[in-house]
Amino acid sequence: MAKKYSSLIEIKGGLQSGEVTVEKLVKHYLENIKANAHLNAFNEVFGEEALSRAKNIDARIQSGNAGRLAGMVIGIKDNICYKDHKVSASSKILDGFTSIYSSTIVERLLAEDAIIIGRCNCDEFAMGASNESSYFGPVKNYADNTKVSGGSSGGSAVAVQADMCHAAIGTDTGGSVRQPASFCGLIGLKPTYGRISRYGVISYASSFDQVGPITKSVEDAALLLEIMAGVDEYDSTLSTKEVPSFSADLKEPGKKKIAYLQESLSSPGVDAEVKNALTQAIDKLRAEGHTVKPIAFEYLDYLVPAYYILATAEASSNLARYDGVHYGYRSPKATDLQSTYKLSRSEGFGKEVKRRIMLGTFVLSAGYYDAYYAKAQKARRLIREKTQDILKEYDFILTPTAPEPAYNIGKEETDPVVSYLADIFTVQASLSGLPAISLPVGNNSKGLPLGLQLLAGQFEEQELLNFSKYFVKL
Ligand code: GLN
Repeated sequence: MAKKYSSLIEIKGGLQSGEVTVEKLVKHYLENIKANAHLNAFNEVFGEEALSRAKNIDARIQSGNAGRLAGMVIGIKDNICYKDHKVSASSKILDGFTSIYSSTIVERLLAEDAIIIGRCNCDEFAMGASNESSYFGPVKNYADNTKVSGGSSGGSAVAVQADMCHAAIGTDTGGSVRQPASFCGLIGLKPTYGRISRYGVISYASSFDQVGPITKSVEDAALLLEIMAGVDEYDSTLSTKEVPSFSADLKEPGKKKIAYLQESLSSPGVDAEVKNALTQAIDKLRAEGHTVKPIAFEYLDYLVPAYYILATAEASSNLARYDGVHYGYRSPKATDLQSTYKLSRSEGFGKEVKRRIMLGTFVLSAGYYDAYYAKAQKARRLIREKTQDILKEYDFILTPTAPEPAYNIGKEETDPVVSYLADIFTVQASLSGLPAISLPVGNNSKGLPLGLQLLAGQFEEQELLNFSKYFVKL
């Protein structure tokens, strides 16, 4: 079966006409996984299980009682718990750990007959933007194997890019669904904070973490969002707002007011072809009758510092639980409680994770709390308020998703701040708790995918998806 389906709607057509079966689909993806093993997108493939589930779902389709995701084969990022399956956050410290329960999102996806084909590689504890901090090694971009996949949900993105599954689920703390989607020519949606349950998702920075879909079509993103979203007694940060039927309600967006950050075009840090893609999009939107205006964001320089202070502070506390006693790896050299903690953590965590635990502990320490953590909290409030002000006047804020397309694997950065700065466009939505989506806008002259980001008001995913569906066809 050579056909590459671009949406679940298309797959459902194929299932109905008898062109394909769920079992054939799974076999096709498993073949692709095998053929693309060098991309390193999966930490583990649940092959046998996926095949036997496929047979059951085919039978349910025959008898007319299949769920809304029948025919949808997905990969999940390896920081999402799935009962009786291993989960590692791509870290040595979770070596051998098996989930004893499923995350809420996994339960909801399975209840609608999705098939989970495997757990996808990612940056260690979702800390990174290139998938190079994984204990299992980097993920290669399918468009060019010498380039990174993006991160931290790099395996999830490449799995979809190389047709190793139809869609994937990632997590986005500061851009980890959107940025790899943009590096792989896909759609990546980070919903409003409080939209999707985080129960059973390994925590990185709890006030930022959100689950999001990586897909080839806006329709699939809408459907996956509506199935995963909504109140959950295990996550008290969830909104009690009713979840719209995002996929059924997709409609023409009408004329919109769009702001774009003028620095996206003027900053020397943004790649020329990325700027060009943004300029072209602006021109097309204007030609279509939308209002598109440049804006200055006065807190632009504070976005990355505020994000990295707060995210690392939260991470240092969340990662305290990996102590060599409760989960996964324990150093064989440990002799007592102190050495169990010290050695297990020293040997179990990678370099980037340790750097962040130390930075987070520092900004929370008694002498520096006010200067860093408290200040960053204040900056976050200002960033959120200012962003919301802009969205009172405009429907969306348009930016590149990332300043550059996928770069070379192994590009050693001596100063980590240089890598952190590449998150400049994605962390604004994360700091503000707002929904944002990365949409593909073709390839650059070297054949590497480019993406643009749209940021919308709180809980305005429907408007965002309506406009996205229209935008990708422009
Ligand atoms: N690149 C950002 C970081 O390293 C975002 C990661 C994420 O969203 N999980 O923190």
